[in-house]
Amino acid sequence: MSRWNIEPGNTRLGWIGTGVMGRWMAGHLLQAGFRLTIYNRTQSKAETLLQAGAQWASNPRQVAEVSEVIFTMVGFPADVRQVILGSDGVLAGCQPGKIIVDMTTSQPALAVEIAQRAAQQGVIALDAPVTGGDVGAREGRLSIMIGGDAEASEALRPCFQCMGKTIVYHGPPGSGQHAKLANQVLIASQMVALCEGLLYAYKAGLDLERVLQSVSAGAASSWALQNLAPRILVGNFDPGFFVEHFIKDMGIALEEARRMGLALPGLALAHQLYVSVQALGHGKKGTHALQLALAAMSGIDWQTRR
Ligand code: NAP
Repeated sequence: MSRWNIEPGNTRLGWIGTGVMGRWMAGHLLQAGFRLTIYNRTQSKAETLLQAGAQWASNPRQVAEVSEVIFTMVGFPADVRQVILGSDGVLAGCQPGKIIVDMTTSQPALAVEIAQRAAQQGVIALDAPVTGGDVGAREGRLSIMIGGDAEASEALRPCFQCMGKTIVYHGPPGSGQHAKLANQVLIASQMVALCEGLLYAYKAGLDLERVLQSVSAGAASSWALQNLAPRILVGNFDPGFFVEHFIKDMGIALEEARRMGLALPGLALAHQLYVSVQALGHGKKGTHALQLALAAMSGIDWQTRR
């Protein structure tokens, strides 16, 4: 029998970070009937959730004080450190028995540090990053990769099932982050291939809609091709998944690869290309903005197609 009985109406949840992903994920928990207390750096981005019945707290510590399970979905490892380990952070508001779940894509070593510091207080901390994009978050179809205490991970299934369709436990603290980084290594070279393929088809004078129709039906199909290529064709580079977050993820994966003595040349190339995307001023655009930088390298202005 589990130490926890996590269910709507019974368990009070906390949520920190109501951005592109977090606002949908938290919204699904609220819709399922969980009582939710939330905090975000910019309060206006939490407004929809507050109108839907969530309670506001004025910092992460106060969220933790009134919640049994506290989820975080912020941007960068420095944000995770601040919202969980800071003086007004989640851990400062936790009594023994509470569970912290960081769903941000962050460093495996930070997940281990948080789990260890939490354990000293009788608190459990899981890392549970996700993949599936803004579309997966909105539709509650994310893939969730979990590291940390196995029993707590299982007990939290009713929460994870509100947000995702594929929920997999990977092992000790940091394992969820490693699984997510493997996902980012996979995506990195796919994004280069996607943008180069479209650029080639354009320069060859083809109708890109027809090209998409053909290649989506064959071996080249992928999530990125199906979800991002249509946005590239109409010149919509809104995020989605921010370029600056992808650079963060690839940087963490490269650090881990260096530590493990691994050569990952495809990842290193994709990272360098994305540094150029950011240098061109597209850091706050979606990852498919790589198209703009690759086109520029060949003297093509993608938005005007000259
Ligand atoms: P986002 O829109 O920037 O959301 C992050 C939210 O966290 C923002 O609302 C931000 O506040 C808040 N935040 C950041 N630091 C904070 C702090 N110190 N205190 C309080 N609130 C803080 O990013 P996102 O796209 O939702 O991504 C969140 C995480 O998921 C990232 O690690 C990303 O790599 C990962 N991820 C994203 C996707 C995707 O497709 N978008 C997919 C999978 C994983 P402000 O509103 O003030 O900026």
